Amino acid sequence: MKAKIDTFMEEVKTRNGHEPEFIQAVQEVAETVIPYIVKHKIYNGKNILLRMVEPERLISFRVAWVDDSGVIHVNRGYRIQMNSAIGPYKGGLRFHPTVNASILKFLAFEQVFKNSLTTLPMGGGKGGSDFNPKGKSDDEVMRFCHSFMLELNRHIGPNTDVPAGDIGVGAREIGFLFGMYKKIRNEFTGVLTGKGLSWGGSKIRPEATGYGTVYFAQSMLKTKNENFEGKTVVISGSGNVAQFATEKAIALGANVVTLSDSGGYIYDKDGIDSEKLAFIMDLKNNKRGRISEYVKTYTSAEFHARKTPWGVKCDVALPCATQNELHQEDAKTLLNNGCICVAEGANMPSTTDAVHEFIKAKILFAPGKASNAGGVATSGLEMSQNSLRISWTRKEVDARLKDIMEDIHQSCIEYGKDDDGFVDYVKGANIAGFVKVADAMLAQGVV
Ligand code: NDP
Repeated sequence: MKAKIDTFMEEVKTRNGHEPEFIQAVQEVAETVIPYIVKHKIYNGKNILLRMVEPERLISFRVAWVDDSGVIHVNRGYRIQMNSAIGPYKGGLRFHPTVNASILKFLAFEQVFKNSLTTLPMGGGKGGSDFNPKGKSDDEVMRFCHSFMLELNRHIGPNTDVPAGDIGVGAREIGFLFGMYKKIRNEFTGVLTGKGLSWGGSKIRPEATGYGTVYFAQSMLKTKNENFEGKTVVISGSGNVAQFATEKAIALGANVVTLSDSGGYIYDKDGIDSEKLAFIMDLKNNKRGRISEYVKTYTSAEFHARKTPWGVKCDVALPCATQNELHQEDAKTLLNNGCICVAEGANMPSTTDAVHEFIKAKILFAPGKASNAGGVATSGLEMSQNSLRISWTRKEVDARLKDIMEDIHQSCIEYGKDDDGFVDYVKGANIAGFVKVADAMLAQGVV
């Protein structure tokens, strides 16, 4: 089996040798899906995984824009349309200086499996730009978004490709992008998700990824007769996903003691309660400040510059910042400190070695493609509401989100339970996600 996986990965590396994040994401899927393919005749010999790792379309374009002092800048825009076997391409846009084809291809590839897991009819895609919204004025961000959409608009549509937000793309950016799309196309359609509530957005969409991650962790804990009540929780990031994961964990009785950003992490041994979280939300979302400023107001808390929070003793860890932020040594530290559950709110935050440590130790470990799927699932619900021209209540959307997370959890158990009863959620998520897409691809022929 190892030889088969190695041969496959050699081919992937030959074609994509300069794309380490993409190769990492494919490797993780290949390790669990190839053994399944070999055992199941209908998939064997069809080069189905080889077809899945090649994007259906990769669009790269120039984004020129003018800053407040009249200087012209040029950024690179992308949209990766990875797989449309089960529905229109769906996946976020990321604006961050580190964005390149490798990062977006890994995200688009993961998205295919994640969207399949949600049970909703959505293909996989991802896009973005190396533009950095940090430190830019609202007008500069608007001009950039408008220029970006001038090109992107011809590649997307409510039945073709429906982007959403991701790192650096929140409500403000989605508004500017939607405004330009509507102007060019002269139509008001559900072409983007994460829209404002008064113009087609879904209730619970901002909360969905963070809430969903905690719902998933809750389902995992339940298999061990455990829950969040009284648990010490360590969270990284302080953006959209981290904020709402914190909110839900607090609501379930947990003691959240850390949050972070790219400058370092805060440790509040007394716990981040609802009032402190409201302070952080205002700091990050309205003032666009740094997490280090927390300790100026809450003086008993500590700020650790340029460090990640994985050394803090905890029961549950929720990495919610970015890819490859949790390394093998961090995994060992978490395990030594008695951590029993890790659910990824971010995409691929744990390195491959770190994932192997968690699985070797047989703790509850959920890969992002399962545990953070609540965001895209609620985006799918936003698309449904837009098509039907209705708006569900907060309670309705939250109930659907909970059901979807529970369904994903069940799928992971169905495909990931080992003979000794241990649930390998990585294997479960990869195979469950694969089966639905592969079946559709087989039915549609070689296209
Ligand atoms: P935001 O932009 O709202 O927040 C990102 C957070 O991560 C910020 O606190 C940011 O700090 C931190 N961060 C970013 N890059 C780094 C880095 N290199 N090192 C340390 N910290 C970093 O993004 P989201 O919360 O939306 O996304 C977070 C993760 O969740 C991403 O992996 C994203 O792909 C994933 N995700 C998001 C979904 C969504 O619905 N938003 C859906 C599914 C997954 P700083 O401000 O210093 O940059």
